[in-house]
Amino acid sequence: MAEDICQNLTELQQRITAACEDAGRDPDEITLVAVSKMKPLEDIKEAFGCGQIHFGENRAKELQDKMDEYQNDEIQWHMVGNLQTNKIKYMVQRVNWIHSIEKSKYLREIEKRASRIDRVINTLIQINISGEDQKSGCQAQDLPEILEHAQGLEHVRVRGLMGMATFVDPEDVEEVRPEFQKLREIRDAHREYESDNVQLDELSMGMTNDMEIAIQEGATMVRVGRAIFGERNY
Ligand SMILES: *Cc1c(COP(=O)(O)O)cnc(C)c1O
Repeated sequence: MAEDICQNLTELQQRITAACEDAGRDPDEITLVAVSKMKPLEDIKEAFGCGQIHFGENRAKELQDKMDEYQNDEIQWHMVGNLQTNKIKYMVQRVNWIHSIEKSKYLREIEKRASRIDRVINTLIQINISGEDQKSGCQAQDLPEILEHAQGLEHVRVRGLMGMATFVDPEDVEEVRPEFQKLREIRDAHREYESDNVQLDELSMGMTNDMEIAIQEGATMVRVGRAIFGERNY
């Protein structure tokens, strides 16, 4: 069944507005990142046509192909998936945000590559909030080293933290609330590391199933795929 992407975006915006009302927050504080992984460029164009600006991908190759093919400078591209050092060189040419920093070596590589083309890349440090071994992200105790490392860099801005909650059935989604609370608490506990290019204002958390809870717990960026583009066929 073809998805009505614009209709889905309208309904999602209503969900965001309702969640913000519940939480006493301003919906303008929330950036919606449309996660278009495994979906064709046509879907991205359609979403852009109805006003969506931020798009996220979780595979470097797919992100690269879409950025190269579309070449739309109004779009803000977000890398939300696992990084590999050798993919960063090309990625920094167009990507605007990288959500998945889990080691300072990635910051070093971004700095090296972005400095050559005079770009500044927005980054988020990914924390493993679910505690599951297979999930990516660093531990809270790794943060000071990474943030101190970032402070000396001129082509990297740290903007906040990212986390992915445990996958649970939609009816059990309340169970992930403590994980989102934890991300916010980790952020609050590391404000002392803020500097010119290190800010921790952004919390990237919440996806199709757990978006409302993430917003109630302080998300400023939600990364939503299926509610916009439909289910993915693996
Ligand atoms: C796929 C993905 C999302 C979006 O998940 P949905 O359930 O489709 O909303 C968000 N963040 C990351 C890192 C993803 O890989």
